[in-house]
Amino acid sequence: IRKIGVLTSGGDAPGMNAAIRAVVRTAKYYDVDVVGIRKGYAGLIGGEIKEMHSRDVSNVLNLGGTILHTARCPEMMTDEGLDKAAAIYKILGLDALVVIGGDGSYRGLAELVKRGVNGVGIPATIDLDMKGTEYTIGFDTAVNTGMDALNKLRDTSNSHERCSVVEVMGRDAGYIAVWCGMCGGAEEVMFPEEKENINSDRVIQQILENRSIGKRHNLVVVAEGVGGTQKLAQDIQEITGIQTRATILGHLQRGGSPTATDRMHASMMGYHAVKAILEGRENIAVAYNRGRYEILDLLESLQMDKELDPEIYDVIKILSI
Ligand code: ATP
Repeated sequence: IRKIGVLTSGGDAPGMNAAIRAVVRTAKYYDVDVVGIRKGYAGLIGGEIKEMHSRDVSNVLNLGGTILHTARCPEMMTDEGLDKAAAIYKILGLDALVVIGGDGSYRGLAELVKRGVNGVGIPATIDLDMKGTEYTIGFDTAVNTGMDALNKLRDTSNSHERCSVVEVMGRDAGYIAVWCGMCGGAEEVMFPEEKENINSDRVIQQILENRSIGKRHNLVVVAEGVGGTQKLAQDIQEITGIQTRATILGHLQRGGSPTATDRMHASMMGYHAVKAILEGRENIAVAYNRGRYEILDLLESLQMDKELDPEIYDVIKILSI
């Protein structure tokens, strides 16, 4: 193994830089050349590529976002784009392509594998919704940002005896919502996986019940994928007479300096990715399961099961009385 490439793709996630740093420095430690590819697959196809050395990743461990930049790249959905990406991989003389990204980025990588690329995935998305791994880089920072916001909203909604409805990230998955709900002490969480809980009448009923047992304010968390946050706040106010405010956190949760947990996982996963390449493993995905880092087959990992533990929601309800 003489030369590898690294890129970040899809939505940015805090900790991506720590992963890039770990890939570059582990490779350099073992005398392997590294090229950094800008803007994800778009930069691969467009040839935005430069050699990276240990000093190029100085002072990035603590930075959110990604120094390599990221992008969504529609060209990867075409045979022409995929062929071009695979051809550039070959022209560059790469022995492996390390992709730090989410589920879509892995699917793109799987297409490149079919065209002769040795693909190595490092899981990074704030949403945690990737199969085959219990952890994805960025999740902990995003949840902590959401929790901080809930803490602040709690102060003000408690002072005014209001209801606060907070929308957190999570288009298709409720991991951020239930973690923010549990850790921020919300009474109710609405998230995409629990269809029967996406019911504003039930939420309003719950708020009224909570007031009747002496609660002076209310916190409701809604996942982005459920939507309708403003409307829910209006309905709560109209029906209950309780002043209700909606807050949409949006991309605030994507940024920020990564937490220790994200830096740890990103550093270890970056290291394990390069070690596995050096051991001759091909077409793999780094994962973290049951307290250990694992190297899975990339294509198999995409087929694995993963679901949100419904017990978390049950416990949120028990603890909200
Ligand atoms: P996040 O979950 O944070 O949004 P992601 O990696 O899932 O991250 P996507 O936008 O889904 O983000 O995917 C990133 C890029 O991967 C896409 O812009 C596209 O270039 C490529 N990609 C996604 N799906 C495929 C696919 N089926 N075939 C080829 N390329 C794909």
